[in-house]
Amino acid sequence: MSGTFLGMPSLPVFGTGNLHEHEPFPKAAHRELGNTQLRANLGHATGTIRDKRLAVVSELPDWEGLREAGRAIKESVMARLPDLLEKFEANFTARGGKIHWARDAGEANAIVASLIREQGADEVVKVKSMATQEIGLNEYLEDQGIAAFETDLAELIVQLDHDKPSHILVPAIHKNRTQVRDIFLREMEGVDPDLTNEPARLAAAARAHLRRKFLSAKVAVSGANFALADSGTLAVVESEGNGRMCLTLPETLITVMGVEKLLPSWEDLEVFMQLLPRSSTGERMNPYTSLWTGVTPDDGPQNVHLVLLDNGRSAALADEMGRSALHCIRCSACMNVCPVYERTGGHAYGSTYPGPIGAILSPLLTGITAEENNSLPYASSLCGACYDACPVKINIPDILVHLRGEDVDSKRGKKKLPSQMDLGMKAASWALSSGRNLGLVEKALPLGRLAAGPDRKITKLPGIAAGWTQSRDIPAPPGQSFRQWWDKEHRAPAGPAESTAPVEGPEGES
Ligand code: SF4
Repeated sequence: MSGTFLGMPSLPVFGTGNLHEHEPFPKAAHRELGNTQLRANLGHATGTIRDKRLAVVSELPDWEGLREAGRAIKESVMARLPDLLEKFEANFTARGGKIHWARDAGEANAIVASLIREQGADEVVKVKSMATQEIGLNEYLEDQGIAAFETDLAELIVQLDHDKPSHILVPAIHKNRTQVRDIFLREMEGVDPDLTNEPARLAAAARAHLRRKFLSAKVAVSGANFALADSGTLAVVESEGNGRMCLTLPETLITVMGVEKLLPSWEDLEVFMQLLPRSSTGERMNPYTSLWTGVTPDDGPQNVHLVLLDNGRSAALADEMGRSALHCIRCSACMNVCPVYERTGGHAYGSTYPGPIGAILSPLLTGITAEENNSLPYASSLCGACYDACPVKINIPDILVHLRGEDVDSKRGKKKLPSQMDLGMKAASWALSSGRNLGLVEKALPLGRLAAGPDRKITKLPGIAAGWTQSRDIPAPPGQSFRQWWDKEHRAPAGPAESTAPVEGPEGES
């Protein structure tokens, strides 16, 4: 039966692009855990950023108030997103910018490629951008014969090494200085063959390489950290100044931004300009903040475009419990404190968004029923460190539990026979429903002692319980249950009937 067309364009429900796991998280994590170099690099880098962040956050007496303000602003944005988007569009357009709406990654990529071709260009310089990573823009442009050059130092390292970013803020966090030097020597044209791994020498090599690109590129592509609805202004914050070169030198600037990045006004930006640098790099303020409002005649890019990207954000917004994942300002504080991320690194998550925020955002954008992403909500110990660190107070542990529930429900609907987990839960429900049932189960404890070896440890369990014993042992159950012990210790010995007279306290007390 065909539906009635009511004149509304259809919205793809879920996101596409680089949002999926390529293999289940446990399998990928197991492999990454074996990479000792990766773990050493990550442990050092995240530890350093964590300490810096703690120091600058503790300087602010109103830090908790700022977090609460950030959360409240984002919540109000989500509640009136359509109105704010229209307001932003009107202001951005009135100042000479052009807006393009993209429902998914495919549409966004096609729009950007056609805008580049309109300028007769076959190469672009890029500002670091998670949105363009998400839609796989570089790969798409390469297929179209357009070369995209990353200008952020860490993104450049990853691109030269034909690798993938593994951290939101420090995409090359998994590489150390010696590895970076080797990549430059191997991949960078005209590099000094005596290059050492000193940071200043590496930065100078990258600067010389990039300057040629900045001066020749006609088109730049960027993301945006914030968009201000009341003036139609876009903002990019960065540490190196390479972004600013891209945002000011080329004739054409194309920005790709998720629709959730809006803020109502300049006053709201003040809150985030305090929250973001402290949470991300552990700095009091970020070195470069670039703001642009449409086109300024004879100054900066004269063709200014913005691609507003949905790619699953409407679906995430429709999830009452999960929608606060869209409050994320991509600071990366949650991954720097996450014990799971610190050990597995970002590649294990598959998606562009790694760490705790990735474990909720990727399944929300693609739908938890997408087979490829349903192990991500389990990539957490639920320790809550991410919630404590998040500058906009996204309750990541609660959303993880919510998504796990959705995953279990979606699988239950597909299965004809009950799973081992279903049977186990049924058995637990029966055992815990009465003291008598639990007493019966306790009688089986001696079987557990039989399963343990001479060292009194159970090292192998069958079925789904095998997942537990793969990485730890279970101590043999005690020789008697608590009830048996209690009965033995407290049961009144057979003899004369107990006295019912009140027990008196020690002398002198009343
Ligand atoms: S979830 Fe919070 S802590 Fe993590 S990247 Fe987003 S804003 Fe930062």
